[in-house]
Amino acid sequence: MRRVFVFILLFVLMFHFTCKPSKPKNDWIKALLALYLLKTAVQDASGTSDYDNIKTWYSTMETLEVQVVYESGATPYDATFTNPVTGNTKYVWNIFDDNLQELFKNRSQSITTSVPKELSSMTEISSQSKSTWTTSDITNLGKTYRTEKSTSTKGVFLVAFVNGYYSSDGSTQDTSVIGVSVSGTPYIAIFKDVITSISYSNPIEEATVGEATRIYVEQATLVHEMGHALGLVNNGVTMVTSHQDTSNGKHCSNTACVMYYANSGTSALVSYIKSFLDSGSTVMFKTYCLEDTQSYQP
Ligand SMILES: [Zn+2]
Ligand SMILES: [Zn+2]
Repeated sequence: MRRVFVFILLFVLMFHFTCKPSKPKNDWIKALLALYLLKTAVQDASGTSDYDNIKTWYSTMETLEVQVVYESGATPYDATFTNPVTGNTKYVWNIFDDNLQELFKNRSQSITTSVPKELSSMTEISSQSKSTWTTSDITNLGKTYRTEKSTSTKGVFLVAFVNGYYSSDGSTQDTSVIGVSVSGTPYIAIFKDVITSISYSNPIEEATVGEATRIYVEQATLVHEMGHALGLVNNGVTMVTSHQDTSNGKHCSNTACVMYYANSGTSALVSYIKSFLDSGSTVMFKTYCLEDTQSYQP
């Protein structure tokens, strides 16, 4: 069967700035360090907290809370859906939740996840009237709408479903980017227009698995972006086995893993999603990534 997908894959633009001022050797370096710390403090005061970091998430965090906001027209899939292949009904957001729980399995640290399942537990925000989003736009949105800061025992992440497209230069729309995790922040954006543009050209296929595919694509994107936010691959969490696809950034070399970066378009994501629809399974992180997060000790 021929499938034509409008666009596809994925995902991320990661922006890394690592600044590690260590062991200053003279006053000049100390002065720079003081300036750096001052800048950090100012940033913290306007949105993120000292606890929005890998160390907290993999040591003292007990609750992982995900807050979801959405613009009208960019509403997330919610409630339950029936997998047309297996016939099983489950909560859409359990796909995301199952993956979060899997990341923290087998650790001495016990994590409770708090993920909204229904729109009534998410927040509709006013129209942002934007056709393009830069990472700083996403950060500003996150700072505005996250209602609670992270603490030593609670990681609070904000996912925003928005209209419009990601833009790396502030003007050109990147219509192939479904989601972005802004590195160094607990903020993720999902570009709903990209998801709703996905459809099968075969009307029978579209009628049977079209919606379920879009649901899985949306959830898979959330899982992928949260993977980055939580330190994958080699993005803060140390690798146990070398599996970073370095030519594609912070991604996984395992093609069966949701952190694999495939940009050859269409067929890769379609078949990836299809395997989950066929099996009914939900866990998209695979061996090497799970090995990393389950054994990481900051
Ligand atoms: Zn990615
Ligand atoms: Zn992986």
